[in-house]
Amino acid sequence: MDVIVIGGGASGLVSAIKAQEAGARVTILEKNNKCGKKLLATGNGRCNYWNENQTIEKYHSNDLNIFKEIYEAKKNQVEDFFENLGIVPKVINGYYYPYTMQASSILNALLVKAKNLGINIIVNTKVLEIKKDTVFQVITENKVYVCDKVILAIGSKAAVSDEDIYKIVTDLGHSLTLITPSLVQVIGNDKYYKEWAGVRAEAKLTLLEDGVEVKKEMGEVQFTDYGISGICVFNLSGIIARGLSLKKEEVVILNLVPWFLGSKEEFEGWLDKKIKEMKGYKIKDILEGFLNYKLGKVILNLAKIEEDTLANKVDIKKLADLLGNFKFKAVDTKGFLKAQVCAGGVPLSEINPKTMESKIVKGLYLTGEVLDVDGDCGGYNLGFAWMSAMIAGENIND
Ligand SMILES: Cc1cc2nc3c(=O)[nH]c(=O)nc-3n(C[C@H](O)[C@H](O)[C@H](O)COP(=O)(O)OP(=O)(O)OC[C@H]3O[C@@H](n4cnc5c(N)ncnc54)[C@H](O)[C@@H]3O)c2cc1C
Repeated sequence: MDVIVIGGGASGLVSAIKAQEAGARVTILEKNNKCGKKLLATGNGRCNYWNENQTIEKYHSNDLNIFKEIYEAKKNQVEDFFENLGIVPKVINGYYYPYTMQASSILNALLVKAKNLGINIIVNTKVLEIKKDTVFQVITENKVYVCDKVILAIGSKAAVSDEDIYKIVTDLGHSLTLITPSLVQVIGNDKYYKEWAGVRAEAKLTLLEDGVEVKKEMGEVQFTDYGISGICVFNLSGIIARGLSLKKEEVVILNLVPWFLGSKEEFEGWLDKKIKEMKGYKIKDILEGFLNYKLGKVILNLAKIEEDTLANKVDIKKLADLLGNFKFKAVDTKGFLKAQVCAGGVPLSEINPKTMESKIVKGLYLTGEVLDVDGDCGGYNLGFAWMSAMIAGENIND
């Protein structure tokens, strides 16, 4: 059986390996001049390819029940797959990297395996259209390839300039859910951002959508001249982008004193006591004991307190509220080009999760980010690419 895999990225390479191992003759068509370009950029060039902490909550889809079938079938096989390719993992806080800390190790392992299996890889070949009668015709700029089955592993429009990426799949009759950028920087429109630009500080974050709490995160926030960034912000950004496109209000509440474990009232009490203990201190010097100087300045400006004011003269309630419940109103994200992934894609209800075969076009399989699944930061997006690809390749003979 001749199989064409469209896209030589993460899920394309793995599905090709699995399909060839299952006895198919596989050709990969890749539009770039080499396979796995995005893979090389993952994890800041180190490729965070998996996570020890596998829970459904780390993944997002409009069809989570269907996703669960894919996940349950494969979540225990990914580590072995990479170990069998010779990858020794380095696990840092649950995040899996290759021991070399180089994404090229993962790509090389996949390419060597593909080569050893005799998989045909053709680069600089963009697929424009797929036609199906008794066989598939895969149409590129220069040539029409004929095959029995197709695995579509084209990824998403995150971090690529190809706006047309989904055309080949919608032309085949598949639909798309709302597609929005995710794992991306969040933009606000307040004037003072240039004053906090460059600061990195720990915070607890609570995302309110139209005033209702939808997600919590904790971690290092990067304060920038356009708004906020950092892994914890990325993990909220998918909901924010989707909500904004649906005209919802998206507000991130930042608790800038995450080390204080008591209630709001208890924090006010703590601050009051501290100020009394540090008699004669200016408020800016007290803040600097637990808050980055630039952030402290922003807070004081917003509270309309001169930084040289003696601490015992300030409105403690107002200050404590800004420190514990700093409101950041999101107005946009940095968009698809800066996003690591897309939320949304082909609905899982249009595929059979046992095989990844399309329910609309027989013999067509879909894997990876083109589908409506995205994950938090931490190796979950590649995780889904590997899991879906393994299923498609292994079941290519069905
Ligand atoms: C900067 C960055 C960092 C990231 N870091 C991580 C991380 O550390 N951990 C993690 O889990 N995830 C990470 N991700 C996300 C992860 O890279 C993707 O989720 C994953 O690569 C998706 O795999 P895929 O096979 O679906 O798509 P891709 O890996 O994007 O592969 C799709 C391939 O298809 C090709 N293609 C597309 N259309 C056509 C066509 N018409 N004809 C021929 N070829 C085509 C593309 O050129 C590409 O090579 C990161 C993403 C980015 C951008």
